[in-house]
Amino acid sequence: MADLSEQTLNVTALPAFNDNYIWLIDNGTLAVVIDPGDAAVVMTALQKRNLSLNAILLTHRHDDHIGGIPRLLSEYDVPVYGPKNDEIIGVSHPVEEGDPLTIEALGLSFTVLDVPGHTHGHIAYYARMRRWLFCGDMLFGAGCGRMFEGTPEIMTASLDKFAALPDDTLVFAAHEYTLSNLKFALEIEPDNPDIIRRVQEDSARRDKNQPTLPSTIGLEKKTNPFLRNREPDVLERLLTLGLIKDKKPVDAFAAMREWKNIYR
Ligand SMILES: [Zn+2]
Repeated sequence: MADLSEQTLNVTALPAFNDNYIWLIDNGTLAVVIDPGDAAVVMTALQKRNLSLNAILLTHRHDDHIGGIPRLLSEYDVPVYGPKNDEIIGVSHPVEEGDPLTIEALGLSFTVLDVPGHTHGHIAYYARMRRWLFCGDMLFGAGCGRMFEGTPEIMTASLDKFAALPDDTLVFAAHEYTLSNLKFALEIEPDNPDIIRRVQEDSARRDKNQPTLPSTIGLEKKTNPFLRNREPDVLERLLTLGLIKDKKPVDAFAAMREWKNIYR
């Protein structure tokens, strides 16, 4: 019998609302969706490709990530995995860091990471064998989620978990915010060649209406200001701008997050 872990799987971005991506993983027959905010988007994709839904994964409780659950469950009798600490109606399998999670039909195993900060219970799903990270609204292309239910200490501890993953890990974030995040990244590091190159590459993708995601952890570490709060250049810049008083990485994170909240 073929080893299920060797299955060829596709990952597709399903655009939803203004700038969300619902990620769909499939093996040509069965599919898993992550953060289905809109059931119609998912059902159209499943029907078009003749796929049957096998499981739903949720990263956190915001409506644009869970809104499609009732309708999908009325059509498909599937398990719904979601964060233990973010109360979500419809979750059949609450999970937290350390819990094993295997989607057997697709030969997919995930490590659950607790990554609080955007919401209290936010989790991420990391497929270690495939180097895939589904990080919801905690990490974006060149940015991070808003700090709705955390402190800079909590947020940076969560982001450090992502930064510790292998550089070639693919980052499947839940929103297309990369270009506006890169504009902000250039305010912090105007001369960073990796950011300048990424602006060019990702602008070309958007011109062709392609997603800028997945990115990689390695690229995020080189270009994402919120993962670069220990870099001497970043600390120096924030000090010069008068946004921090001393070179504490957690203060640098807090200052950048606050600035980004009002940055246009
Ligand atoms: Zn959210």
